[in-house]
Order: sequence, then structure tokens, then C-alpha cells
Amino acid sequence: MLRLMAMRILSCLIFTFLLVNEPWQTEKFNQFDLLYTAADVSFKNEYATMISSGIDSVEKFTGHSFSRRFHVYVHPDRKSLDTQWQKDWGVDDFKSECWMVASGISGKIDLLAPRVWKDQACEHSFADKLKTRQVIAHELFHVYHAQVNPGNDFNNVAGLDWLVEGFATYASGQLDTARIQGLKESINQKLPTSLDAFWTGKLKYGLAGSTVLFIDKKFGRPVLLNLLTHYES
Ligand SMILES: [Zn+2]
Repeated sequence: MLRLMAMRILSCLIFTFLLVNEPWQTEKFNQFDLLYTAADVSFKNEYATMISSGIDSVEKFTGHSFSRRFHVYVHPDRKSLDTQWQKDWGVDDFKSECWMVASGISGKIDLLAPRVWKDQACEHSFADKLKTRQVIAHELFHVYHAQVNPGNDFNNVAGLDWLVEGFATYASGQLDTARIQGLKESINQKLPTSLDAFWTGKLKYGLAGSTVLFIDKKFGRPVLLNLLTHYES
């Protein structure tokens, strides 16, 4: 009896240990693996649908599929996201700004669960489904860009932030009327004079995104897609 009880306690402890140390559950989809924790079980299908629709947008815009599968990690809270970014970026005390909710490179997206944006983020709302889909599409365009760029996950693209962020902003539909209007209103103010400085300040998404829009309209989609392969060797 005592032995049985001891075994029960032991298996309970092992289960708790696994739960604490292995919180991720995985579901495989057509081109990606979705990794999420128990807190997001009831939202995972909605996230997966948004990711799949973002993949369609990437394929439609670029005319190409992703060259390889990738992971999408849905972090249950900002602490989990920060811990991952600290590890990935080698900055032990990195603390993200409230507007930062996701990142994308060739093999993965890290996403703060849209479920918690209301309390743990600013400038983003899960209730706004169109904008949430655009945030996810933005990261998917980063994944596509990183997969076609030999520059080691944007580590060798110094001075090209305007292209990396401008492409994801424009292609995902985030260069919306409000952003264009914001640019128009600031056109007579002092704006950055170099492309390198476009990814700075309050208007950075508008400045970078509209530059990529200009390239797309003036020189055409093949030229824009070709630019994505450039990096600093
Ligand atoms: Zn971005």
C-alpha cells in the first residue's frame, strides 16, 4: 500500500515536472508547426486560420511558396516572449517595449498571444481582427524575406532596415489610409533625409512602407522581389 502511494506521488511529481518544463504543445499544419501552451488551447484554431490566410497573402504577393517549413510559437505572456528574445538576441536583460508583439525569421515566428494584447501590449487589439491578421502577415513576410535572403536571418542587412520593415509593412497591408494620411500631414515637417534613417521615429512604418510601395509601382514586382535577396557579405 505504502509502495503504491509512493509510486503515485512519484508519477504525480514527474507529471508536474513535465508540465512545468515542457509547456509547449504542437500541432502540425500544411507549412508550419503551431506551438502553444495550455492557456491558448481555445484560441489556437483562430490563430492557425489567421496564419494560413497570411500564408495565402505571401504566396499571392510574391508568386512563390515558402521554401521550407517554420514554427510559430504563441507565447502565453510577455515574460515568456522576453525570455525567448533574450536567448535569441544574446541580451540577458532585454525588456521589450509594449508595442512589440512578434518577430519573424527564416525558421520561426515568436508571437505574444493575441489573447493577452489587451493587458500586456499597447497599440494592438485582438478585437480588431483585420489588424491582427495584418500583424501576423507582417511576420510571415519577414519569414519569407529571411528564407530568400542569404544574410543569415537579417544579421547582415545593416542599413537595410527600411527595406526589411518597409516590405513587411507594405506587403501585409499595414500601409493603410491612416498611415498614408499621417505621412501626408508630415510632408512639410522635417523628415529623415537618408533611407537609413527612414526606420526611425514615429512615422517609421509609413516612411519605410511607402518607399517599398514606390519601388513596387515604379520598377515592378520582380525588381522588388530581387531586392529582397540583397545583403552585406
Ligand atoms: Zn517587422
